[in-house]
Amino acid sequence: MAAVASDHENGVLMHDVIISGGGPTGMMLAAELRLHGADVLVLERDAEPSPVVRSLGLHPRSIEILDQRGILDRFLAEGTRYPGATGHFAGIVPPRPVALDTTHDYVLGLPQPVTDRLLTERAVELGAEVRRGSALVGFEQDDDGVTVELDDGERLRARWLVGCDGGRSTVRKILGIGFPGEPAQTEWILGEIQVALPADEVAAIAEEVRKTHRGFGIGPVSDGFFRAVAPADAPADERLATPTIEEFRARLERFAGTDFGAHSPRWLSRFTDATRLAEHYRVGRVLIAGDAAHVHPPLGGQGLNLGIQDAFNLGWKLAAELVGWAPADLLDTYAMERRPVADDVLTLTRAQSVLLSPDPGPQAVRRLFSELMRFDDVARFLGERIASTGIRYDVGGPVAAVDDGSLLGRRLHDLPLADGGRLFALLHEGRGLLLDQTGEHTVTGWADRVDRVVTTTPELAATAVLLRPDGHVVWLADGREPLEPALRRWFGEPTR
Ligand SMILES: Cc1cc2nc3c(=O)[nH]c(=O)nc-3n(C[C@H](O)[C@H](O)[C@H](O)COP(=O)(O)OP(=O)(O)OC[C@H]3O[C@@H](n4cnc5c(N)ncnc54)[C@H](O)[C@@H]3O)c2cc1C
Repeated sequence: MAAVASDHENGVLMHDVIISGGGPTGMMLAAELRLHGADVLVLERDAEPSPVVRSLGLHPRSIEILDQRGILDRFLAEGTRYPGATGHFAGIVPPRPVALDTTHDYVLGLPQPVTDRLLTERAVELGAEVRRGSALVGFEQDDDGVTVELDDGERLRARWLVGCDGGRSTVRKILGIGFPGEPAQTEWILGEIQVALPADEVAAIAEEVRKTHRGFGIGPVSDGFFRAVAPADAPADERLATPTIEEFRARLERFAGTDFGAHSPRWLSRFTDATRLAEHYRVGRVLIAGDAAHVHPPLGGQGLNLGIQDAFNLGWKLAAELVGWAPADLLDTYAMERRPVADDVLTLTRAQSVLLSPDPGPQAVRRLFSELMRFDDVARFLGERIASTGIRYDVGGPVAAVDDGSLLGRRLHDLPLADGGRLFALLHEGRGLLLDQTGEHTVTGWADRVDRVVTTTPELAATAVLLRPDGHVVWLADGREPLEPALRRWFGEPTR
């Protein structure tokens, strides 16, 4: 694939996009940009991939996204499917599983290093350049691009810079973007360790301790190792320092009355319950995504999912900007759409934190919540929020912002097609799609960026729909608006 922009400026190599941070958000974004031929360089500070298992899996919307790009099989091959995505909310489990509106109604258990590796492989396969052991330490932007400074003093140039560099994002800090919210109140040490006690004794102690300390846990993972987590009274002064096994043993002893004879850690790590949301996602030619834009405690397991979904929303819009057909405000819809979604996730994690408090007030609310969970609609409502399958963007048009049950602004779940195919298979290339059941509509003028497929599907009431590259519906043949304004709004001016 050729770079979409000229690749030299005054003799200096000009990348289309530099992504700072090669975590899941950065790699997903790199792959999405490469689908459209953008020249992408990913800078990753760590010389080697991190062995730390933070995220334990993927929720339905992320699974759908991987399916939409034709790469789900490789994730399924290495993961474990846990049926029933409605799962739990702050540990409160619905009495019966409630089906969500998705063909992927399961959580995919997958340790984060595997997710990170598979996303990296995909980005590299598509042609993204990844430089490991190379950190961004500064940058300056002008009208034409961004000059990035690396830790070894080298300077690079790109038309756009995206900070996918995690919760302590250097890019966000240099941009001076406010990151308001609540500071860390509790810090946890998490690790994979070996123990001297027999497994059944470990399980019995863990069950007893969790009755009074919900932030504590220990359980077997693989190869004789245990994953253990234990809280501290307050965040340590030096939160960046990797914990020692002695420190971890002291924490375990404090909560469980035994250190389990913990030894030989595979890895140890710290995390906190800091909850923050960036005030903006873009300043000029620099954007932020993933943890760089939002942090929250891991309750509900949403951070990585949110980052992948940020990247999926941003990729095609930034690519459209580079290729040159992006309507004037397309790139700004990234923050308009994704910041409220992150805000909602922060609401969910704050609510779950409260429900986990042992204080009498929150415990009373927890009892009430447990009763409400008996109603399928409540379980579905919360399950859909965590699965991110119910998201509706304000995509303009005649029924914008009216929650009338319309598909407008929502993503379509996978649909079987009359020709034996299925909807998601039509979205692999990351292009727009007009799914036309009557053959009456045309995308002439936009055919370089929007596919038209004439087929029928019994599950779709509308006779035709226009989907963005991320699968969200931006137009319906319901007689309220002709197709052309929607094509212009999302895919720019037609070619002659
Ligand atoms: C205990 C725990 C459990 C979790 N469980 C889940 C879960 O079950 N499900 C879920 O969805 N999420 C979970 N999360 C959250 C998830 O781990 C993060 O949200 C996710 O890793 C964010 O991805 P990211 O790519 O935005 O940032 P990161 O994964 O933090 O990646 C950022 C990358 O940028 C690099 N970097 C930083 N600074 C620079 C620089 N200056 N230059 C170059 N590179 C730089 C870093 O080395 C890093 O590789 C959990 C988190 C924790 C702590």
